[in-house]
Amino acid sequence: MTDVSAQEAAERAEALIPEALRRLADYAAIPALSRDPQRGPDVRRMAAVAADDLRAAGLEDVAVLELPNALPCVKGSWLGRPGAPTVLIYGHFDQQPADPAEWTTPPHTLTPRGDRLYARGAADDLGGWLSQLVAFRAWMSLGGPPVNVRFLLEGEEEIGSPHLGEFMEAYPEAFAADVMVLTDCENPSTDTPGLTVSLRGLLDIELTLRALRGKVHSGLWGGAVPDPAVGICKVLAGLVDDRGRVVGLDVPQDPAWRQSVAGLSPSDEDLRRNAGLLPGVPGLEPGDRPRVEWMWRQPHLTVIGTSLPGLADVANVILPTVKAHLSVRLAPGQDPDAVFEHLRARIVDLVPFGLDAEIKKVRGTAGWAYAAQGPAFEAAERAYARAFGRDLVRIGVGGSIPFITLFADNFPDTPLILNGVMDPQTSAHGPDESLHVPLFRKVVLANVHLLGTLSEL
Ligand SMILES: [Zn+2]
Repeated sequence: MTDVSAQEAAERAEALIPEALRRLADYAAIPALSRDPQRGPDVRRMAAVAADDLRAAGLEDVAVLELPNALPCVKGSWLGRPGAPTVLIYGHFDQQPADPAEWTTPPHTLTPRGDRLYARGAADDLGGWLSQLVAFRAWMSLGGPPVNVRFLLEGEEEIGSPHLGEFMEAYPEAFAADVMVLTDCENPSTDTPGLTVSLRGLLDIELTLRALRGKVHSGLWGGAVPDPAVGICKVLAGLVDDRGRVVGLDVPQDPAWRQSVAGLSPSDEDLRRNAGLLPGVPGLEPGDRPRVEWMWRQPHLTVIGTSLPGLADVANVILPTVKAHLSVRLAPGQDPDAVFEHLRARIVDLVPFGLDAEIKKVRGTAGWAYAAQGPAFEAAERAYARAFGRDLVRIGVGGSIPFITLFADNFPDTPLILNGVMDPQTSAHGPDESLHVPLFRKVVLANVHLLGTLSEL
């Protein structure tokens, strides 16, 4: 590959962008909601449209892959460079549900406003794999990219990729590659490209406190028998410190890493704009660390369910039993079993009034911490720096993304480059999801360069 041809491909890609964004409007108009069984036909319609566009782009053996009881995947490959590396590009064409009442404009109508295009799926992830398809088409107009390319698009990502592992087993040739580019991740800003290198894990705990055989009148027995409702509040309060951090689970971090993410942390103002934090309420105090450390690389505890009565069921009773469901985001590398043992011991210490306590681990999934070193990542760094005029920044994800774990587990020796077209204002899964068009353009150009630099592996 010469520099000249990459530059030419970048120019071709630029010219293809307006048409690609019109096509994005067609994609967004199909409510491919994998979560809604009634929308199965729409997910399949979207699969057929994606297959048509892969074919039109010049990919060969394009097919809609099926498995029993699963929504389909779409694959296609172009293997015109024998001896060159093969790059697999992953994306997903299903979408999260969208409630029109919460949106400024209809969620399934791609609508421009300022620099952004608003629609469910615009960035997550229709725009993601489209940015790759534009790059591929640009190279095809010059006779083909300097690498072999496979596309693999999933139809069940938004429900946790329940069959992706089975697809990997049933269609191994569709996944065969030397390097994988997984396009469903975020950039730290619209100017700064991101490479995702860690995920947090997840531990779910159910806590039950018991005191009585049945409900009793709080006026008659209050003062004589213990109240499990108050008891569970004391336990939950004791698991976090005054700054809202889980007690005793702090994970040491590399000072050099802290330095590298110093400029990425959201301010309180960003939290107001992007997370809906109310005026007058501050964000959690980050102390002497970058706030993103608390979001990506430290554990965090959330109470996601209790059996406390709702306000519609107010009554003067002491409850016999109260349950709480705790969700603990784990730092990458933290062992779910070890964290459970730590929290179990702490809960036992905190249970007040001699209440009977049952502490159950519901499920535990480890996070993912990735070194992201070697020639493929150096190639990605060169490509992104060229398109953005800025270095690629290594970021984390606070959540757990099953498809990433599946790729990491099934292809441990294959470099995984995790990128995408999302930015902090994208609102993926939320109302008014949007794609930042100038960012999309830069990602397209970076993807063009990436197909070039990966040929040098
Ligand atoms: Zn997604």
